[in-house]
Amino acid sequence: MTLLSDLAVGGWHPASFVDYPGRVAAVIFLQGCNFCCPYCHNPQLIPLGQTGCLAPAKILDHLARRRGKLDGVTLSGGEPTLQAALPLLCEELHNLGYPVKLDTNGSNPDMLAELLSAGLVDYLAMDLKAPLERYAELAGTKVDVNAIRCSMHLVSSSGVKHHFRTTYDQSLLSPEDLQLIQKMVPEGSGYVVQPCRQPIVTR
Ligand code: SF4
Repeated sequence: MTLLSDLAVGGWHPASFVDYPGRVAAVIFLQGCNFCCPYCHNPQLIPLGQTGCLAPAKILDHLARRRGKLDGVTLSGGEPTLQAALPLLCEELHNLGYPVKLDTNGSNPDMLAELLSAGLVDYLAMDLKAPLERYAELAGTKVDVNAIRCSMHLVSSSGVKHHFRTTYDQSLLSPEDLQLIQKMVPEGSGYVVQPCRQPIVTR
């Protein structure tokens, strides 16, 4: 049986103005990622299976006391969809009255489908790392690009607010790559290119 206490939480911010469009949101960073991007903003969150140092219940207690002062909660990482207890966390946040934004690399469409069918997310931001032919290179590991395609379809057809996003650095992606990625974005979906602000690391 999956329990909320199974969640590995690597860290959190009590309030952010930039992580949930139009809202002041707390950000919870889930531990573990199946990608190894050269520009990862949170490389300490990549190791999988590492027990988080923060108890989810304590964060929820704090968020219960912040009701009325925050407009939402963003779940980021790491890759949140790798954790089986993610739906439980979303449910608890909804019970507290918080809209939930999920940041995802799109590698786990099964979890996305579960969250969407249960109405557990209110905003989705999905990375588009590279043209599909270069995905493994930019993600730093083998990638099932069919899973990425499937997640793109789920996100864009969900009816949930969303956008796709690419982290751009000219040493990693060419302008032609960026054009190919833009062509992948489904019609009607938002798309943001964010400049890479982290040092590029070969892991
Ligand atoms: S998907 Fe996100 S968390 Fe995972 S390695 Fe890439 S940038 Fe880091």
